[in-house]
Amino acid sequence: MTRDGGDAGVGLDRLVDLVSRHLGFDAVLVAEMEHDRFVLAALAGETSGLPLAVGAELPEDERAYYAAILGRAARDSAAAAARRSGSSAAPPGLRSAGFNRAVSVPLRFSDGSVYGILSGLVRTLDRRPAKLERRFMAMLAELIAGDLDEQRRRQRLKVAILDVIEHQRIEIAYQPIVDLRSGRIIGVEALSRFPEPFTRPDETFAAAEEVGLGLELERLAISTAWPVLDLLDPPLFLTINISPASLVRLARRATERPELSIDNLVVEITEHAIVEHYEELRQELAPLRERGLRVAIDDAGAGYASLQHVVELQPDFVKVDTALVRGVADDHARRVAISAFVLLSLDLGATVIAEGAETPRDLTTLGDLGVHAAQGYLLGTPTGVEEILRRLRTPHGD
Ligand code: C2E
Ligand code: CA
Ligand code: CA
Repeated sequence: MTRDGGDAGVGLDRLVDLVSRHLGFDAVLVAEMEHDRFVLAALAGETSGLPLAVGAELPEDERAYYAAILGRAARDSAAAAARRSGSSAAPPGLRSAGFNRAVSVPLRFSDGSVYGILSGLVRTLDRRPAKLERRFMAMLAELIAGDLDEQRRRQRLKVAILDVIEHQRIEIAYQPIVDLRSGRIIGVEALSRFPEPFTRPDETFAAAEEVGLGLELERLAISTAWPVLDLLDPPLFLTINISPASLVRLARRATERPELSIDNLVVEITEHAIVEHYEELRQELAPLRERGLRVAIDDAGAGYASLQHVVELQPDFVKVDTALVRGVADDHARRVAISAFVLLSLDLGATVIAEGAETPRDLTTLGDLGVHAAQGYLLGTPTGVEEILRRLRTPHGD
């Protein structure tokens, strides 16, 4: 077991397991250095006699032992360290637990900075670990440097995203969705904005997902955009972006709160998302759709699942992806593809919204193809809430 579980690559779990099985130690541990403390980061082998659990701080005696090994290793050349590192006597606490000898080598990141220590422990006094074992462990320690880098990257990312969530470092930009016949704003999409280095919202949500904070970050985005719902009088609607996993969770909470008014809310489900259980999603959404919640398929045409999403979820809106929209005026294939979405939507009673409309010619073509509405820099860039409300008050939204 490791402290944060599920490491990428070889990982500490695998490392201690390999060393324990192949080098015949009774137990193997990794101690992670945190300032002047050592914390048990991974453990394998016959560990029942060990007075330590993963995540626990090592006692003073052990700390001094490991610090001494690292201090000596720092003065040695890498090769000398590989030969010499480790003391054959186990640290005091482990000796009293019956582990008499230890082979310890430093674990480093690829920039050379210290991560901690890898120790193989043996009980019998007459089994003196051979030099070759030490060198082999030093080699493994070097091999795992890239994995330690990756683990450190993820940990730092997690801390940074937790900081965003805890301190609500988010702003929402609102982009108008415009009816192509009347020229009027019919709805507004909420788009998240985060501080440096999280300048790309899609990458930020993907990173949060990677470190297990996807749902929390989405919840922050939604709760920050939520108050704007009250500022938009129907038929004006607010769209929010949401992953299928968050949608299921949010749907359950919203179902328990019948007083929430959601008849001008549209949830945009990205087409990139893999929906594993359409039936579950449909069931969770059904009572909310009865209360007026509408569903949009986002980025339609950008990936392989768009038609399936559309067919399975019977959306109220189909948002055609920028990649299909840009250059539509001069591209026959794009026109055909967009026409196909228009036809399909007509059949479903859904409204087609073209995304990323950037030129007047593309916009005219979209109208000619029967696209109902569009969103794009030409019609309005994402702005703050005051600006979007000001635009809504002016007759043609401009
Ligand atoms: P999206 O949902 O497809 O959002 C549309 C993106 O296109 C926005 O990028 C918007 O600023 C941009 N855009 C609008 N008009 C034009 C145009 O005319 N040309 C071009 N080239 N782009 C245009 P943004 O705000 O950077 O968001 C990127 C993606 O991040 C979004 O793509 C969405 O997938 C994700 N995202 C943003 N906010 C949230 C959120 O609160 N929750 C979730 N789950 N995802 C979000
Ligand atoms: Ca969207
Ligand atoms: Ca989109």
